[in-house]
Amino acid sequence: MLSLLQGCERDEAKIQWSGETMGTYYRITVIEREALDKDNLRQIVDTELQRLTQIFSTYLVDSEVSRFNQREANACIQVSSDFIDVLEASLYIHDKSNGAFNPLIEPLVSRWGFGASERVFDFPSPDEIASLRQSIDVSGLQVNPAVQTVCKGNAEMHLDFSAIAKGYAVDQLSRRLSEVGVNHHLVDVGGELAVRGKNASGVAWRLAVEQPDKQYGVAQLVFALGDGGVATSGDYRNYFIVEGKRYSHTIDPISGYPVGHNLASVTVIHDEAMVADAWATALSVLGFERAKSVAMEQQLAVYLLERENASAVSGNHADRSGDVVANVSGDVVSLHFREWHSPAFKRYLIEQ
Ligand code: AMP
Ligand code: MG
Repeated sequence: MLSLLQGCERDEAKIQWSGETMGTYYRITVIEREALDKDNLRQIVDTELQRLTQIFSTYLVDSEVSRFNQREANACIQVSSDFIDVLEASLYIHDKSNGAFNPLIEPLVSRWGFGASERVFDFPSPDEIASLRQSIDVSGLQVNPAVQTVCKGNAEMHLDFSAIAKGYAVDQLSRRLSEVGVNHHLVDVGGELAVRGKNASGVAWRLAVEQPDKQYGVAQLVFALGDGGVATSGDYRNYFIVEGKRYSHTIDPISGYPVGHNLASVTVIHDEAMVADAWATALSVLGFERAKSVAMEQQLAVYLLERENASAVSGNHADRSGDVVANVSGDVVSLHFREWHSPAFKRYLIEQ
């Protein structure tokens, strides 16, 4: 998770409000350097969030995504340009990540118990996984941007933009705020951020990457960002543990299994938060070593945290090296992390 570093700033005329959207929270921070109509800003944000929910929600039965998911084989539906933009970005990152990012992952996410319906604890059989994997082949999707239609090859193809839509939402909210002359702001939807201008102290925004496995709010790294988007994916908020093994809500589309490696947190900075969001998820799938090489190859600004010595542990004890402990619920937590940042991330680091 990412957060705005509070406290070390002077509280110069800052307006902040929050609410709920897309199954999570949103928080808007605006620095009042220009004359602003607060009610109007709230209205602009609410309207935009409602518009995006109507497109991307998997809960609303009549959203564009839900309508696509309900359709039969070979059906085409008319969609918004937002839908086309997010789908095309998804397919681009699918390609560049060698399939690690997959917008059709929904049937596997649901079967592993991370979907909209309640968690089932019986593990799928290898045959079941193999059959579900057949519906996630993106070559069965047909996108026609000129007439804004999307067609599906088989009925089981279900889109899930959960790993990219929050990033897209913060980009759009930030754009709306800029359009009405709000030049200094931070938009946060569920921990994916877009920032513009300067913070209350008149310098680039100070942001913090949370330390994995800790309670909310312990900063592992503080960095500075003027204009752009930033996203973090981690395995430490939404997961389950069976016999000391962690099953994350991120699914490896190639194997069909939840990722189980030790890459605890991936942060990506990009001009577009949408792109940062999708890459953060894709790199989480790839694991520490492959994430490093793809980050280099794609020249992405990336910061990784890998859990060290986090072997299978159950019960409430430390292992022999003393640096892996299990808390009362038997969760595997590590006190040591290996850090890595790409060359493109360096410019955001703050000299300590
Ligand atoms: P994020 O928090 O942005 O990493 O997104 C996590 C969500 O993305 C999960 O809850 C799933 O709904 C979805 N997801 C899981 N695995 C993948 C994947 N390999 N590609 C795209 N989306 C995924
Ligand atoms: Mg993501």
